[in-house]
Amino acid sequence: MLPANLLDSHPNGCATIMPVMDDRLKTLAAAAQFDVCGCGGGMRPRAAIDPTRFIHKAALPDGGCASLFKALLTNVCVNDCAYCINQKSLDIPRAAFQPEELARMFMELYQKRMVQGIFLSSGIAGSAVSTQTRLIETVEILRRRYKFGGYVHLKLLPGVGADCVETACRLASRVSVNIEAPTARHLARLSSGKNLYEGILEPMRQVQSLQLRSPGLVPSGQTTQFVVGAAGECDRDILDATGALYHDMHLRRVYFSAYKPIDGSRLSGVGAASPWREHRLYQADWLLRIYRFSHGEVSLALDDGGYLNLKHNPKLVIAARQPWLYPVDINRASYEELLRVPGIGPTAARRITQMRQIHDVTSVEQLQKLRVRWRAAMPFIWFRGMSDGEKQLCMAPLFADEFSRLESGSTLGRVVERPSGVGAL
Ligand code: SF4
Repeated sequence: MLPANLLDSHPNGCATIMPVMDDRLKTLAAAAQFDVCGCGGGMRPRAAIDPTRFIHKAALPDGGCASLFKALLTNVCVNDCAYCINQKSLDIPRAAFQPEELARMFMELYQKRMVQGIFLSSGIAGSAVSTQTRLIETVEILRRRYKFGGYVHLKLLPGVGADCVETACRLASRVSVNIEAPTARHLARLSSGKNLYEGILEPMRQVQSLQLRSPGLVPSGQTTQFVVGAAGECDRDILDATGALYHDMHLRRVYFSAYKPIDGSRLSGVGAASPWREHRLYQADWLLRIYRFSHGEVSLALDDGGYLNLKHNPKLVIAARQPWLYPVDINRASYEELLRVPGIGPTAARRITQMRQIHDVTSVEQLQKLRVRWRAAMPFIWFRGMSDGEKQLCMAPLFADEFSRLESGSTLGRVVERPSGVGAL
């Protein structure tokens, strides 16, 4: 295995580590797959579109879609994070780029229109500060020498100081420091080298305070990522921390990555987390962030053990636990009340309120045109003009039945979902 401080000490840098550029790129691009916070729009990274796996389709913060160049500066690391393929004790190929090389490689792809932006991260080779300085140097080359004005997501390494944070914020479109676990106790199970308060939350606070002082700074905001299911945490732990990060740190996004065991890691005995667990966390996050549900309201979706229901989406569970709120009169309900109906998302709720200014909703066909998932919504809504058949679908008897089946953990059957993408809930 390479010495961790090799990049700091070797006069010729990485060229002697792995002389073939393509091999290095493959190694570092593969290592970068484990971080989803550069992209995704609430989903896991999509399949790479290039055999070398360093270009990812990504949903950008403004709602657009772009191809991002995603690679590590190095996968050499002094830390022992048990969920990470780059942890120091693993016998894997190690590689590194010089900032100059990585910047040039990105610009070649950018000029060929193969990528529109870059997600830049790294293992910690030597110290966090020296590695962060190399990451910053890479972005400075892009911004100053190549005049690249596009999207740069720059990872902040845990433990970097205020100077590094400020310089990174002045250069990047988005910054992120991964929190990994919801409490210090959970993080200690995953990594002996990371400190939740000084190493992770403090840089986050520094970014937030810089943003408050200079509102245009880091225009795509600050994000973070949890590893799900590695530290014995429950969904309540993660959602409590997520709510606090949005409320106290004004984070733009929180990402979730289901834990996958790594051969040779000290956590290899811990089983892989269900992708459905990750998916339900994204849906709960969607309710917090997009639907503006309160943290307390989202907590209604948790069971007694503090976990989200894997079979049913959290919005349905929340509705089923508050039967006194339904059925909602589709022609009288406020926007917020409509948003709490399963099958009605923000677009449909807005369209319903707009249509009502002209005429009432009187048919299922109208609801379908307004983008309501009517099969999911029918048990929870009422409108004048319902046919007898539609009336049978709505109101108390069916809803009570759904509620009891939900409580017993059986499948509702009518709510059809796929485990990718969040969509309207
Ligand atoms: S600091 Fe931890 S998570 Fe980051 S590259 Fe090193 S081992 Fe992996």
